[in-house]
Amino acid sequence: MDTPQKAFNPFAMAQRQLDEAAALLQLDPAVHELLRWPLRELHVTLPVKMDDGSTKIFHGYRVQYNDARGPNKGGIRYHSAETIDTVRALAAWMTWKTAVVDIPLGGGKGGIVCDPKTLSPGELERLSRAYIRQVGRMLGLEKDVPAPDVYTTPQIMAWMADEYAFMQGYNEFGMITGKPLALGGSAGRGDATARGGMICLREAARELQVELKGATAAIQGYGNAGSLAHKLGRELFGLKIVAVSDSRGGIHNPEGLDYEPVAAHKARTGSVIDFPGARNITNEELLELDVLILVPAALENAINADNAGQIRGKFIVELANGPTTPEADRVLHEKGAYVIPDFLCNAGGVTVSYFEMVQNAYNYYWEEEVVHTRLDQKMTTAFRTVHAMAQQKKVHNRLAAYLVAVNRVAEAVRLRGWA
Ligand code: NAD
Repeated sequence: MDTPQKAFNPFAMAQRQLDEAAALLQLDPAVHELLRWPLRELHVTLPVKMDDGSTKIFHGYRVQYNDARGPNKGGIRYHSAETIDTVRALAAWMTWKTAVVDIPLGGGKGGIVCDPKTLSPGELERLSRAYIRQVGRMLGLEKDVPAPDVYTTPQIMAWMADEYAFMQGYNEFGMITGKPLALGGSAGRGDATARGGMICLREAARELQVELKGATAAIQGYGNAGSLAHKLGRELFGLKIVAVSDSRGGIHNPEGLDYEPVAAHKARTGSVIDFPGARNITNEELLELDVLILVPAALENAINADNAGQIRGKFIVELANGPTTPEADRVLHEKGAYVIPDFLCNAGGVTVSYFEMVQNAYNYYWEEEVVHTRLDQKMTTAFRTVHAMAQQKKVHNRLAAYLVAVNRVAEAVRLRGWA
């Protein structure tokens, strides 16, 4: 496999993070090398009939990073800047994520290079079905289970589950998660990623004896993860969310922003910008605001060597995957910021996806309260394990999370006799 290129490359970053943990763990060199690479990947080419009668060719990927601990698990992203190395990085982080919350799954990820905002619903459906016709051979409840990620939705999961059912000749709802409730979805999956992050924030505030009521926060990214962090941050703790943003820019009001009107404005106009009663700001400005809590909930590389020195948030609640580069990690650590690292912080989504798979397998569905309670148990335990590791080894939280997760995956690899 080619070594990742030099310019910002999420997979090179994921490998560097692993290397640091492997050195501290004194990991067996063969186990380390095995964990630096995906076990398997499929590259697919997808012809799709467009509404104007033409055929357009799309490219997509599915990466199965490591299934030593159980079936591969990880979302599908639709993005015009998608690359195989982004998918590899996201698949690696899924491997550490399922391990850190100790659910019996491995890590995978998928993606299609496309701009979904330019596709009609019909084109989006045909593209999603074409992807499953190619990638379906790798998928299944016991093999690899996708879910939503950036710019993919419960509706897309429903089309994918339906296409897979046609291929198999029967419904196998547990082959994909994040489905609508009417089609084998789980109660509580919609806000699970944001809720898991809020549980981590609650625990971190408890450890540092910080009051969350009225605490200021800024959120970058206003999709599933970011917008629901706005909602839950207000509902659960009474946070004062002073700024939010999406791909078109951000808005700032030092008096705080309520969730409902901002969400309604975004639903109506397609963006949070130009919200009445707030000042438009850039995404760069949002990240550097003087707030207690900063929530990166968009894409990779948001906090990097260029802006880490200007970040003023004390708690960095990483709902996005890979938002902070290793260089920025060092700067934040020196400044005394408390980073809740991505694959711990955003693990609520995969945890409830796992609950969804379990419910699909039993064909018996839980009340939302049951989901919330079990999610809280999983996230709280994972948070405390990582926090204790950070204290014990005197390392920053991301490295501590790696030590916990890599140890678990390495143990499974050794027990199987792979290395
Ligand atoms: P989404 O498609 O629902 O929303 C993405 C949001 O990010 C949109 O508001 C979009 O406008 C915004 N955005 C895109 N580019 C941006 C940019 N350059 N600057 C600012 N905002 C930008 O996606 P999501 O599911 O909320 O995913 C967001 C992040 O959370 C990703 O890193 C994803 O991998 C991670 N994540 C999501 C889940 C989940 O369950 N959805 C689980 C774990 C991690």
